[in-house]
Amino acid sequence: MDSDVDGPVKGKDMQKLTVIENGAVAVKDGKVIAAGKEEELKDIEAVEKIDCEGKLVTPGLVEPHTHLVFGGSREHEMALKQQGASYLEILEQGGGILSTVRATRETSYEDLVEKAKFHLERMMSYGVTTMEAKSGYGLDVDTEMKQLKVVQQLQKESKMDIVSTFLGAHAIPEERKGEPEKFLDEMAAMFPEIKEKGLAEFVDIFCETGVFSVEQSRDFLKKAKEAGFRVKIHADEIDPLGGAELAADLGAISGDHLVGASDEGIRRMAEEGVIADLLPGTSFYLGKKSHARARDMIKAGGAVALSTDFNPGSSVTENLQMIMSLAALNLKMTPEEIWHAVTVNSAHAIGRGETAGKIAPGRKADLVIWDAPNYLYIPYHYGVNHVNTVYKAGEKLYERSGIRG
Ligand SMILES: [Zn+2]
Repeated sequence: MDSDVDGPVKGKDMQKLTVIENGAVAVKDGKVIAAGKEEELKDIEAVEKIDCEGKLVTPGLVEPHTHLVFGGSREHEMALKQQGASYLEILEQGGGILSTVRATRETSYEDLVEKAKFHLERMMSYGVTTMEAKSGYGLDVDTEMKQLKVVQQLQKESKMDIVSTFLGAHAIPEERKGEPEKFLDEMAAMFPEIKEKGLAEFVDIFCETGVFSVEQSRDFLKKAKEAGFRVKIHADEIDPLGGAELAADLGAISGDHLVGASDEGIRRMAEEGVIADLLPGTSFYLGKKSHARARDMIKAGGAVALSTDFNPGSSVTENLQMIMSLAALNLKMTPEEIWHAVTVNSAHAIGRGETAGKIAPGRKADLVIWDAPNYLYIPYHYGVNHVNTVYKAGEKLYERSGIRG
């Protein structure tokens, strides 16, 4: 299953999904060499054949927005939220993200690697074969570097393809309260070393009320571009600040969240080819009634991607399949749009459109076999793992095992 369109799949085209009944995929040396109807591939002599009768086969899922590396967890905040405290109120009390910052600073490099690996492997078991991972829980030079190096080690050790993003501008740390510009200067001063050591491909910022303003974000991301990075923005998640317009102005690869994005911002992002990466798990987990306007974004001719936003505060799940269900239920996306949003478009949102998110000759054999009769089934049957088997570059990474006895 894939799309014939090159580049991200936009607007009405998101409805046109290529689905092959009785299909087959031929794989050699970790790469797809042919894909099509079974009879079209009958002349290819197979060393091993895997029977997928009654099952669905798709490209490996691509997860374009995660906060993979962090210390600790924040289960105690659930009760505070139930008593009505908002995300920004918890943040003001030094809780929320700042408690994760403290835990991440205190956790050793080795322990962060182990913890991140645990979450990453769970993502794999849910069908993800390519993902993005952000820093942003250090908020000081040493800990941000530590997080980026954890990602770099995982890039070397894990079978998962991981794309690294520097999110030093995720929040204002306690020791820089009231001095956002000074803090942003410190984070921007890290750009040359991050670039030189190949520690990140993208730079991101949390542009939000009480965090960084549109002007501060513009200034910071311009410096990032000058230092040779492509940029992403946590834009208009809570308040409609103009983050979507900023993403369009800067030619960001993606604008993420966008729950409060304006009509103008939506239109301009579509026009400039900025991918709208939507994270409905966050709205769900924070108990919000409003959702990103995926329908308007698609109507405007934009490309939409989907992600878990996996993080210990506002979206605690590694399950991208659950996000597919939320996209159907809360964003009113069709199954066809949803599949584009977790494969080809999410790959483009992290600069991997040429290598991930499609089943096509010459590409890595990143494939998922699903215990599902068709592609409609995954968003429909929610909250569980439908994966039967995950292949990365032709190698079996995960297989569902049955109940013993
Ligand atoms: Zn995020």
